[in-house]
Amino acid sequence: MTILPLPFVAVLATVLGLVVGSFLNVVVYRVPAGVSVASPASACPACGTPIRRRDNVPVLSWLILRGRCRDCSEPISSRYPLVELATALLFCAVAAALWTIGGTPTGTTLLTIALLYFMAISVALALIDLDTHRLPNVIVLPAYLVLGALLTGASAATGDWGALLRGVLGMLVLGGTYLMLAVAVPDGMGFGDVKLAGVLGLVLAYLGWGSLAVGAFAAFLLGGTFAVALVLARRARRGNGIPFGPWMLLGAWCGLLFGDAVWHAYLALIGLS
Ligand SMILES: [Zn+2]
Repeated sequence: MTILPLPFVAVLATVLGLVVGSFLNVVVYRVPAGVSVASPASACPACGTPIRRRDNVPVLSWLILRGRCRDCSEPISSRYPLVELATALLFCAVAAALWTIGGTPTGTTLLTIALLYFMAISVALALIDLDTHRLPNVIVLPAYLVLGALLTGASAATGDWGALLRGVLGMLVLGGTYLMLAVAVPDGMGFGDVKLAGVLGLVLAYLGWGSLAVGAFAAFLLGGTFAVALVLARRARRGNGIPFGPWMLLGAWCGLLFGDAVWHAYLALIGLS
């Protein structure tokens, strides 16, 4: 990419990530409760005093106030600045990874916006699933439209309609696979996972079959390893409902960022390339 230098893009994505991360804290807190994310303004959960604008700066405000409310001095969870910081670093990593790949300026820009949006909902959905064991439709279902539109735009810009066709097939394949799993093993998989799987299939397969294969497999490898470790550590009994959504999302990002490299290494290993 030649229109914008990489350091500028990295800083821009980091600042955007801090702001989006701050909004995601509101989303994670309010969407499961069925409360509007737009109003009222954020308030201290302990004393109810609205957060002042100058105390609402991502990460910095929490550090300056030493993790306490300015009005009632009750502790404010370190999860808020950590979500903001993590979103910023993840946004920076995604933007930098895409910018170094290259391609047409419009195509790369649309793909970057698509993946940053996907990263934002990934963070929100993972935290909500951990908190409530749910993947809310109000976040998952619009993702089909938003990502469908952005990826169609990216294909129009690059002329690579094969990628879009591959994405649609990936959506059907991964969604269909999870649907069969949900029907066969109702305790292990929910329909929230099925609806999310379609979104993951669309994004992963748009980037390539290798990304889809690695992303889909990584979810079961990571989630399965963690479940076995929990059982061995006697921290959980089999089937007591560890949500699978966070593993699906983490696996998908492994596929998106490293899928191509892992896939080609695997093909070379078994002598196919
Ligand atoms: Zn307070």
